[in-house]
Amino acid sequence: MTELYLFRTDLRLADNPGLLAHAQADSLLCVYCWPSSPPWCNLTGVGAQRERFLQESLQALHEELRALGQGLLVLKTDPRIAVVQLVQQFAITRVGTSATPGYYEEQQLRSIMERLEVPLEIYAGNTLFEERQLPGELKSLPRQFTPFKKQLEVVTVSAPLPAPRQLPRPPKSVRFRAQPVSNALPHPTFPVRGGSDEGQRRLRHWMVERRGVVDYKQTRNYLDGLDGSSVLSPWLATGALSVRQVAQQLFAFEEEDLSNGSTRWLFQELLWREFFYWRAMADGAHLFRLAGILGKKQLRTFEARDFARWCQGDTDCPLVNALMHQLVASGWMTNRGRQIAASYLVNEFNHDWRYGAAFFEKYLIDYDVGSNYGNWQYIAGVGTDPRGGRHFNQNRQAQLYDPHGLFTAKWNGDQPKQPRYINDAADCPLDKRDA
Ligand SMILES: Cc1cc2nc3c(=O)[nH]c(=O)nc-3n(C[C@H](O)[C@H](O)[C@H](O)COP(=O)(O)OP(=O)(O)OC[C@H]3O[C@@H](n4cnc5c(N)ncnc54)[C@H](O)[C@@H]3O)c2cc1C
Repeated sequence: MTELYLFRTDLRLADNPGLLAHAQADSLLCVYCWPSSPPWCNLTGVGAQRERFLQESLQALHEELRALGQGLLVLKTDPRIAVVQLVQQFAITRVGTSATPGYYEEQQLRSIMERLEVPLEIYAGNTLFEERQLPGELKSLPRQFTPFKKQLEVVTVSAPLPAPRQLPRPPKSVRFRAQPVSNALPHPTFPVRGGSDEGQRRLRHWMVERRGVVDYKQTRNYLDGLDGSSVLSPWLATGALSVRQVAQQLFAFEEEDLSNGSTRWLFQELLWREFFYWRAMADGAHLFRLAGILGKKQLRTFEARDFARWCQGDTDCPLVNALMHQLVASGWMTNRGRQIAASYLVNEFNHDWRYGAAFFEKYLIDYDVGSNYGNWQYIAGVGTDPRGGRHFNQNRQAQLYDPHGLFTAKWNGDQPKQPRYINDAADCPLDKRDA
């Protein structure tokens, strides 16, 4: 009996319940389908740094699988086509994958299920809690973070599962092609590489060796570099690290070293991730609607020149320009930076927030559907913010977080490029996900 495991946002061996569930098969085909969503907000594809990080993550997973006599078949084909073809070609009897939110991703799975004559099982594993641990049904999930947090911070997080010691062999006729290697190198200001080993190294280094978590509450609002916050999101988003592995390390640190307001604050941030994950599961297509999950109609514009200026870092605000240059060059922006840049597009340009979210989706190496669209809705005032959205005073933000202008100077915020209109943003689009 040959089985197929479709990796998605769980690019790891350890703490991967879906992979473990297929470890007893006679033969196993491990597959990954490169992201292939249709154009959205007139943007297509992924930025160079996001592509690089994903390729490194896939290469690392392939090597880990090879150490167990396996391998990863990476396809640039839509999973709706690829999985159905592979099931026929290799006489697959059972298919598995891990749960991940996102309307488009859900549609893909539904379509695969309809076409398959064998079972497709979806396993939890990318969250702190399983759905059955939530206080009620998904449809009654709190719309705001505070009640969600109160209900869940008292629930025990299960320990991560071990990696399988052995895996079944792949089907004899499968040929694993050499993984494509990215031409991009990590940006010198943000030298992070994909893969579980790199994620584990970052976790140990930041939390245990550097003890960065001890004063995390004071440093988390930084704008640059690797020292202010954990910078674990790139590995959490690809699934190279599981959130339960991060929580376990945090609990061990609190028990063996120190527990304080900062360590608790980090756990709260993991709960924010959890909150946006489950909200995305509950909200489906509403996550991508202009009126958001609240259905709150707002008069927003699409203005191609404003959007192009924002994307290129060519606005009247040097700090926003610097942030956008940082994002495109390095694939990264800190949480504070994301809030400032998002607020500018939404409030100063009164722009449809979804274009900004789509631009972040393309470039952020930690892109995560629930966290990205959930946070954008929050700032735009159509999501989960009890205060109805966030409008930051840009001068005040610059005074607080870049008082000497070092960040702005480093990322050339005062020297915007000559205006030119990127093709991506030039036309008024059709809204594919509202169809
Ligand atoms: C407009 C906007 C878009 C965003 N898009 C994404 C995205 O695509 N992917 C993503 O992972 N995060 C996103 N975030 C949330 C947050 O900015 C990042 O998770 C954080 O900056 C990652 O850095 P870190 O790992 O050092 O976080 P830390 O501060 O060290 O926090 C630890 C972990 O907690 C989680 N976390 C922290 N803050 C948030 C938050 N506000 N929402 C959800 N989870 C959080 C992340 O998993 C993070 O790795 C977005 C925020 C904004 C305002």
